[in-house]
Amino acid sequence: MKSIPVPVNMVPLSSPPPPGEGSLELTSAALPLEEAWGQGVKTNLLGLNRKAMEDYFRSIGDKPFRAVQLLQWIHQRGVDDFNAMTNLSKPLRAYLAEHSEIRPPEIVLAQEASDGVRKWVLQVDANNRIETVFIPEEGRGTLCVSSQVGCALECSFCSTAQQGFNRNLSVAEIIGQLWVAQRELGEGRRVTNVVLMGMGEPLLNFNHVVAATELMMDDFTYGLSKRRVTLSTSGVVPALDRLAEVSDVSLAVSLHAPDDTLRNELVPINRKYPIKELLAACKRYIGKESRRKVTIEYVLLEGVNDSPAHARALAKLLANVPSKVNLIPFNPFPNSRYRCSSPETILRFSEIVQQAGLITTTRKTRGVDIDAACGQLVGRVNDKSKRHFRLQAIA
Ligand code: SF4
Repeated sequence: MKSIPVPVNMVPLSSPPPPGEGSLELTSAALPLEEAWGQGVKTNLLGLNRKAMEDYFRSIGDKPFRAVQLLQWIHQRGVDDFNAMTNLSKPLRAYLAEHSEIRPPEIVLAQEASDGVRKWVLQVDANNRIETVFIPEEGRGTLCVSSQVGCALECSFCSTAQQGFNRNLSVAEIIGQLWVAQRELGEGRRVTNVVLMGMGEPLLNFNHVVAATELMMDDFTYGLSKRRVTLSTSGVVPALDRLAEVSDVSLAVSLHAPDDTLRNELVPINRKYPIKELLAACKRYIGKESRRKVTIEYVLLEGVNDSPAHARALAKLLANVPSKVNLIPFNPFPNSRYRCSSPETILRFSEIVQQAGLITTTRKTRGVDIDAACGQLVGRVNDKSKRHFRLQAIA
């Protein structure tokens, strides 16, 4: 190994791309390397996918097969100390310790609900915190991961929206949530599924999200299959088409309304990409894979979108879309203008959609005693609202 500095370490960190199509221009292969290597003096190896890791070792005059060794140490064994990587030579370990690091987000608050749901608030820089939630179920454990600090899309029922948008998360900060969760869960529990349904719109942080999902699905890291990694979008149609070109993760869509008038109010990005365009993009994403379905998320808001007429309209809308419907009882948060539909209303809604032939599930409300709805806990711990609310801090 030649002991040479990595030249790109000196590249200054570029400004995070603003939300919108402008952030979609770079390829997923190019961006992680540039950005992960540009975050200060030391390279954070946590955010390098296999190709980026191979390039890193080439750049320091070592063999690209080291990439697999590093990925296994970091992601499969949860090791963040180069000295513990015993199949690397001592000079290489010393070099890595001097020039690189494995730096996950830092836990600032951890909570566990009575039903086993665990939630972590993670510090990603001096001013920004995100949250990650683990939901245990029989035979599986799902981790809900954030992709941005806050969100710019202003969905009216969403706690995260109240905090405004601050910045995109890096690849290391996205995969770091999985790394931290797996370390905290220990040997006894594994994350079997990941859903990108936490804070932020994943498709507005396209390159970093795609690179992070590649890392989740690599056989030398977490080895999750495409059925076990789900990206949830509110409907950024051009980015969805682009996703189909570079990824085949499972897809969920936050629909929440069966017509444009109501959806414009609940999910304002609908004004730009209305339902018809969105569902057409969903069909394109699924392509010819006959067994694939899009998960349609529908949060039930009392007196807003939960009537039998809404249910019938939803069933009609989805009649030709390979989909399954996930009904979500609304999880109220402070200053929310909405309330959760009653159990009877939810049941009636579900029956109507099911009778129309659609697979329908109703999400169990979990973690209510720890504010498990996306954005709630960070909102309480670290209020970033630039808009209308100031939630009461508990710190
Ligand atoms: S629901 Fe999702 S896309 Fe909408 S504001 Fe909240 S985090 Fe953003």
